[in-house]
Amino acid sequence: MIPDYAYVRAASLEDAIRHLTATGACLHAGGTDLLCCLRDGIFSASKVVSISSLSSLRGISPVAGGGMRIGALTTLAEIARHPMLQKEYPALAQAAASAASPQLRNQGTIGGNLCQRPRCWYFRGDFKCARKGGDLCFAAEGENQRHCIFGGEICFMVHPSDTAPALVALEGVLKITGPKGQRNVAAEKFFVLPSKDVTRENILDSGEIITEILLPPPLAGSRGGYFKVRSRGAWDFALTGVASALQFDGNTVRRARLVLSGVAPIPWRVPAAERELTGQKLDAALISKVSSTSVSGAEPLSQNGYKIAMLRGAVESALSQLV
Ligand SMILES: Cc1cc2nc3c(=O)[nH]c(=O)nc-3n(C[C@H](O)[C@H](O)[C@H](O)COP(=O)(O)OP(=O)(O)OC[C@H]3O[C@@H](n4cnc5c(N)ncnc54)[C@H](O)[C@@H]3O)c2cc1C
Repeated sequence: MIPDYAYVRAASLEDAIRHLTATGACLHAGGTDLLCCLRDGIFSASKVVSISSLSSLRGISPVAGGGMRIGALTTLAEIARHPMLQKEYPALAQAAASAASPQLRNQGTIGGNLCQRPRCWYFRGDFKCARKGGDLCFAAEGENQRHCIFGGEICFMVHPSDTAPALVALEGVLKITGPKGQRNVAAEKFFVLPSKDVTRENILDSGEIITEILLPPPLAGSRGGYFKVRSRGAWDFALTGVASALQFDGNTVRRARLVLSGVAPIPWRVPAAERELTGQKLDAALISKVSSTSVSGAEPLSQNGYKIAMLRGAVESALSQLV
């Protein structure tokens, strides 16, 4: 049973922000994660503020001068099937298409996908873990098959979003509006490691709303995609994933961004692998070298060592598709 709360349908962005600054208020977009969290008592709310009637936060459109604008209420299904995104920003379209199930993609929004809470079974269960203000990460010594191999400290969750690594790879920017005005934040700077603040997954302050996502103009000769490994073919989170955005000059890589999912508490960039790709011809030997580099520094827990071989294979497959 979901405990009682007040429900407000915001009439404007300003109205939403005003309601959200109240203690105990939380934002409702598609509700596919929020309502599960409230039902399961992961956190509580005294007021739920729906932004679903704010039509200015919907839609995908080109930006004058190049690039694309995606409203935060745009659904994952709309992103997955958008012809321009499929062609020019394949990492994002493929990531959206790979998330969850058709029903969830029809209801779930890109803003909610970026801000969804962790899927760690201890966090979602009846455990007062470090992320919920307790002293311990129960996964550190417990059931940690699906947990991180990079960036774990204090908490060993993995970031659940498929679209987040794609936006980091594509150098997306999040437009955020709140009580203090508007700010633009690079997707790469949006997510917060547990070592910095274990109680939050992103930099949003009270009352702040992601209003839109901006994608820079596509670079000539760019190729990329999103490769996801999961336990079953649909309706499942990434065990490992790779978002890629490479720019080619002929067969030579001019610029590369590789961002991993399912292996760290934030979308995990691999600068050493990106450097190794840059200026080189993408062939089998280079792909093999880069896939080894991508796993270097991994620190598996007691039950997730399999992710190292899986990740190496995922990077190899992801890059092979771009040759
Ligand atoms: C069974 C299941 C399987 C799933 N599998 C996957 C998967 O494989 N990959 C994947 O990536 N996701 C997966 N998901 C997650 C799903 O994609 C998200 O629940 C969905 O995208 C959230 O969008 P929403 O609009 O419903 O968000 P809501 O549930 O409305 O909100 C989620 C959170 O984000 C906050 N929020 C929402 N919009 C904004 C905004 N614009 N600004 C600031 N804060 C905001 C809310 O306050 C809330 O805390 C799965 C979910 C389920 C239930």
